[in-house]
Amino acid sequence: MAEKYIPFSKEEVEKIIENYPTPFHIYDEKAIRENARGFKKAFEWNDGFKEYFAVKATPNPYLVKILREEGFGADCSSEVELDLVKRIGMSGEEIILTSNDTPASEFRAAKELGAIINLDDISHIEYLEKNVGLPETICMRYNPGDLKQGNLIIGHPEEAKYGFTHDQIIKGYRILKSKGVKKFGVHTMVASNELDPDYFIETAELLFNLIVEVNEKAGVKISFANLGGGVGIPYKPEEKAVDLEYVSAGIKKLYEEKIEKNGLAPLKIFFELGRAITGPYGYLVSKVLHMKKTYKQFAGLDASMVNLMRPGMYGAYHHITVLGKENESHDQKYDVTGSLCENNDKFAIDRMLPEVEYGDIVVIHDAGAHGHAMGFNYNGKLKSAELLLRENGEVKQIRRPETVEDYFATLDFGGLKDFEV
Ligand SMILES: *Cc1c(COP(=O)(O)O)cnc(C)c1O
Repeated sequence: MAEKYIPFSKEEVEKIIENYPTPFHIYDEKAIRENARGFKKAFEWNDGFKEYFAVKATPNPYLVKILREEGFGADCSSEVELDLVKRIGMSGEEIILTSNDTPASEFRAAKELGAIINLDDISHIEYLEKNVGLPETICMRYNPGDLKQGNLIIGHPEEAKYGFTHDQIIKGYRILKSKGVKKFGVHTMVASNELDPDYFIETAELLFNLIVEVNEKAGVKISFANLGGGVGIPYKPEEKAVDLEYVSAGIKKLYEEKIEKNGLAPLKIFFELGRAITGPYGYLVSKVLHMKKTYKQFAGLDASMVNLMRPGMYGAYHHITVLGKENESHDQKYDVTGSLCENNDKFAIDRMLPEVEYGDIVVIHDAGAHGHAMGFNYNGKLKSAELLLRENGEVKQIRRPETVEDYFATLDFGGLKDFEV
């Protein structure tokens, strides 16, 4: 069985646990930075290329600050996420708001920050104009319908709730132009956790064709094409990461054929990836709390679905390493569980592992995106800490664990004494 890389030894993690009890998430700063640089380098041919980190994937200001230093912007999906990036000093076109079913207050917050607003629907043009006023730059989200196959998490584009239809988006550019909008972008995102690199080249082709058509039919020259998020990561050891150099080369060829030849350059290429930026470089570290044998064998952890929901919610695979037992034969079959009163609170079902014992340290891989962020408080479970493994080997706590006081902060127990029942 192929093992996956872990940036710390068992001894190192035992030291970390002395200061920070399990469970916790820990992120590898060095690997995040190297990955960010590789991504930027792959697209350096495109003047103005920018990756807007999808903040929802890992909304921790320390990570966003590191990525900003590497030249990334922020893709926000809510007012709170806009506030988060504002608090680290971000503003203007280093922020994109891509949201749907958007409240006016969110549009207002984005406009005040000077962020790029990405509209999800044609009716939002009027809504934005009436409630907030139109900014000089606007992007619109394209839903290609049956022109493009979706994938499992988002589903078929026609079924998805996102974006403008083809005819709506052409009309949208005409309307916005007539209302004095100066700068335009186009966005699409029709897949999530996609590992086929050609998929992203095809998405670029779809957008480039649209850009040519919009220029012909609406007389609008588009300044940037946002290819969205959705680049997958190899959760399983046998899977292969998306080769971004290959994706970039494919997009460059199409750029020359469709954008440059039609006199539509320069066009900036944007992405708003989350998972592929931090996902593989975050680990959920937990300890085995109970071993149980009934009709099956269970390894019960001190973490639960509250710390990482993907396996319970989507049946997603997350690789599990039992520290110090990497080289033992994986000849035992376990359900690896958390403690929620929900039978789907399992990190793995029928997983072959070495013999697991009470107290073993278990590392759950690829928890660096859509991991801690998706956590919730069901069953009165508290969210765990987030730690950062710095490049110099030091460990910094970048989010403390929740306390009982946090959990009760929205309740007024004092009011109970005057509450007649
Ligand atoms: C969730 C989301 C992303 C990030 O997706 P990843 O799979 O983490 O790359 C980007 N853009 C939009 C609009 C999203 O909803």
